[in-house]
Amino acid sequence: MRRLLRVNLSSGLTKEEEIPKEVAEAFVGGRGFASKYVYDEIPPGTDPLGRANKLLLGTGPLAGTSAQSLSKWMVATKSPLTGTYTRSFGGGDFGAWLKWAGFEFIVIEDKAATPVYLHIKDGKYEIRDAGAIWGKTTGQAQAYLRKEHGAKARMVCIGPAAEKLVRFAGIFSGHRAAGRGGTGTVMASKNLKAVVVEADRSETLANPEEFKRLVRQQVKGYKEGLGYDVFRDYGTVMGVDYPGFGCGSFPVRNFRMGELEGWEKLSFMQFAPITQKHTGCYACMLKCGKIRKIPSGPYAGITTEGPHYETAWSFSGPTGCANLEATVVADHLCWELGLDTISTGGAIGFAYELFEKGILTTKDTDGLVLNYGDHEPMLKLIEKIGRREGLGDILAEGVKRAAERIGQGSEQYAMHVKGQEMPGYEPRALKATGMNYALSNVGANHCYGYALQAIGNPHPRLLDPVADEGIGDIVKYNHDFVAGLELANACTFPSHDLEFFGLELLGKMLVAALGVPQFGGEDYLWHVGEKVYNLERCFNIREGFTRKDDTLPKRMFTEPLKGGVRDGEVIRKPDTIIDEYYDARGWDRNGIPTGETLARLGLEEVDRDIARFRR
Ligand code: SF4
Repeated sequence: MRRLLRVNLSSGLTKEEEIPKEVAEAFVGGRGFASKYVYDEIPPGTDPLGRANKLLLGTGPLAGTSAQSLSKWMVATKSPLTGTYTRSFGGGDFGAWLKWAGFEFIVIEDKAATPVYLHIKDGKYEIRDAGAIWGKTTGQAQAYLRKEHGAKARMVCIGPAAEKLVRFAGIFSGHRAAGRGGTGTVMASKNLKAVVVEADRSETLANPEEFKRLVRQQVKGYKEGLGYDVFRDYGTVMGVDYPGFGCGSFPVRNFRMGELEGWEKLSFMQFAPITQKHTGCYACMLKCGKIRKIPSGPYAGITTEGPHYETAWSFSGPTGCANLEATVVADHLCWELGLDTISTGGAIGFAYELFEKGILTTKDTDGLVLNYGDHEPMLKLIEKIGRREGLGDILAEGVKRAAERIGQGSEQYAMHVKGQEMPGYEPRALKATGMNYALSNVGANHCYGYALQAIGNPHPRLLDPVADEGIGDIVKYNHDFVAGLELANACTFPSHDLEFFGLELLGKMLVAALGVPQFGGEDYLWHVGEKVYNLERCFNIREGFTRKDDTLPKRMFTEPLKGGVRDGEVIRKPDTIIDEYYDARGWDRNGIPTGETLARLGLEEVDRDIARFRR
C-alpha cells in the first residue's frame, strides 16, 4: 500500500490515506503524484499565500533504497512568485527518512494560529509549538530541532526570509534546498516552520535480488560514465569552465554579456584548496556537495556546502564580479536566511543595472553604491532582501513585481519568465535551453529541461547551440524526459550522461521495487512524463496562462549578446520554435492541448475543464 499523510494545521487533524491504486499506477510517484494532487486539490484562482493553497512535501518511490541518486525530496504548490504550478527538489537524506516513516508525501492544508512544526514518529503525528525557533536562521532552527529530537531525526525547515514572505524563499534540509518558486514562502504563510521525521531504516522490495542486480548495473554505469571522476571531485562548479555551461554562456551584467571578465578566478580548480569534504544525498556515490571554508581574510571561517554552479554564477555574473570568496559568503547568507540563490542573484543583478541607468540612486539603496565588480553591496543586499529592509523589501517581490513598483521603464531590465528569475545559462548562446525557460510550466528553470544535446549528448540527436529553428521537438523531448525521471524524484545530474542512467533502467528498478509490471513497459515512463507535463500545463491554463506567457525577456530577441564565443547572437525566431514545440506536443496555436492529445494521455476529465479556453 502506498500512503500519504494529510495534515490540517488549523484543526490539528492528521489522517493517513491510501493513494488509490489507479492513481499510483497512472502517475507512478514523485512529481506524478504532485501534479495530480495539486491539480485536483488547489482550485483555480487560489491565493498562493492564502489558507486554501496546499503544500505537498513528497519523496520518491525508491527513496531510502540502495538505488543511486533516487532519494531526493520534493515540494509542489501554487507559486507565490509566478502564480503557476511549481515543483522544486531538495537533496540530503530527508526523502529517505520520510519514506521509512511510511509516506510518499504529506499534504499540508490551511494555516496554524501560531508558529508550529510537525513531528512524525512511530505512527504519531504531532503539531508542536515552534515559538522558540520562529525567526531563527535555517542553521539555528535545525540545530535546535536536532537537540530536541536527537541525531536520528531528519528535517526540512524555512528561514527568516520565508517568514517575511519574500516571494522566493526556499525550504532547506541540512544545507540542501528546494529553492525555486517560493515554496518556503507558502510554508511560512501556513505558520509552519519545520517538519521533523524520526524513522528506522526499512525496505520492502518486490524482487530484492533483481533490484540489487539493477543497482549494481547503475553503479557500474556511474563509474564508467563520462566525467564521473571530475564531477565527484569538484561538483557542479566545474560548469564554470565548461564552454557549454560557463565561459561563453555565462550571463553577465543582467544578461547582457556571455563571458565574465576574470572568470578563471572562479574556475573549479580555484575552489579545490578551500574544499574540506565531499558530501551528498542519501545513497548517491556522486557526492556533488562540497564543504568549503574560507581560510583567511575578512571572511575567514565562513563555511558552506557549496557554492554549486548556479550559486557561483548568481553571485558573480549578475554583478560582474569574479570574487570566489564572495560567492561562498553569499551562499552561506542565503542558506541562513532561507533564500533561493538564483532569484536572489537575479534580483540583485536587476538592481545593479537600474543603478547604472540612474533609475535607482543612493537615495533608493540606503547609500549603497551598486558598481559592477564590487561585491560588498551585493552581500548587503542579500541581507536586506532576506529581512525585507529598504530596497530589499521591493526586490523581495521578485524582479517582475519590483519593476512594476519602480516603474520608469524598469520592466525592460527585469530578466524573468512568468515571474521567475532566469538561471545562469545564457538563452542566446544555448537556444534550446533558453526556449526551455520560455515554455516551462514553472517559469525560468534550467533543471526543467536543460538541452544537453547542444553540448554533446546525442539523444535523440545533437543540436547546434545557436540554431534558430528545428529545435522545438527537442525542447519537448527534454521536458518529458525530466518529467519521467522525476516520477521517481531522480536527480537529473547523473542523467546528463545516459550511460549513467535513463528511463529504461529506472523503469526496471521500479518494477523490481514495486512489482507493477507496466512501469517497465516500453516508453511507459515517457508516456507518464508527457501526461504529467500536460497536466501541469492545464493547471496553468486554468489560471489564465496562455501563449503570450511562453516568452523570454525582450532583450533576448533584440539585443545581440556581447562577448564570449556566442558574441552577436539573438533569438531570431521564437515564434517558429514555439509553433514547433506546440505541434510536437499536440497543442493548438494558443498552447492549449487538443482534446485528442488529452484523450491519448488519459486526461479526458481535464479536457472538460479546459475546453472553454480553446478558441
Ligand atoms: S548528484 Fe548530487 S544532488 Fe544529485 S543525488 Fe547525488 S549528491 Fe544529490
